[in-house]
Amino acid sequence: MDCKFTAVSTPRDARSLAQRSSVLKRLFPKSELVKDADVGETVFQVLNLWRRRLNVLKQAGWSMGEKKKYGYMRNCLPSSVVMEASRVVYKPRFCCVSLICPWCWMRETVNKTWNTVVGAMQANSSMFDKDQVGPYPYKLLVGTRNVSFEESDNQPAACLDRADRLLTQMRRRWSDNLVGAIYFGVVSPSKNGWTVSNRLLGLAHSDFKVPDTVKVIEHPTRRNVAAAVAKFSAYPVGMMRHDPERVIRLLDARSSYRLYRTVGVFRAGGRVVGDPEPEEGDRAIDLS
Ligand SMILES: [Zn+2]
Repeated sequence: MDCKFTAVSTPRDARSLAQRSSVLKRLFPKSELVKDADVGETVFQVLNLWRRRLNVLKQAGWSMGEKKKYGYMRNCLPSSVVMEASRVVYKPRFCCVSLICPWCWMRETVNKTWNTVVGAMQANSSMFDKDQVGPYPYKLLVGTRNVSFEESDNQPAACLDRADRLLTQMRRRWSDNLVGAIYFGVVSPSKNGWTVSNRLLGLAHSDFKVPDTVKVIEHPTRRNVAAAVAKFSAYPVGMMRHDPERVIRLLDARSSYRLYRTVGVFRAGGRVVGDPEPEEGDRAIDLS
């Protein structure tokens, strides 16, 4: 029997906003996500979508669906809202299948990116100091390059290889000019084939001239950094919407690729201090 989740509260910190923009807004673009009730409703829409998706993947023969893991994936603790759970058979812990679980995508990909960027910026300048006068020493860049492929026999491996090569090219092109960068390759099924989305999140000196194809945040604040992190960490909706057989092939092939790479201050990155709000949801659940 599945957990019955109840939304208790909706954190408004910037990292929670990034989580919701990167996943909820991608899966349900029309949702407003302003009032707590709207956020809660969308979280439950995603929960239902995720559980239905797991059923489809299990029926299509996904090996994960055969094990106890399936129950944990169905009942993986939703993130970006504080939840209570009842009817606990499977304890609502993290399934950690972050390539497709929307909640673990929030906790793994979005949080990792947020912590890396904010930690490095806090460690290296007073970027978030509202009293700062004059130009900021650094600006943030966020860019995405999407390439489409038609379905063929040697995919998704060919797409993953392509993403890997594109990341290497991006790194060669950009890294000398950036103080720090994260390069991220996301492969997902599309309607008739595959999409390779290669993404850049970079920190540059304020006088660095940036091409038009890349969005620039001249004056980073927690809110606009959250928007940049959400764009960079956008959940691949094809995993939830398109051909389950292709999703399974991708999940099986994906683990041998390293498509998230950090460079410069983002590699050394400082740790975020005192931003534990989203984790309070974990403590709200009484498992005793
Ligand atoms: Zn999960």
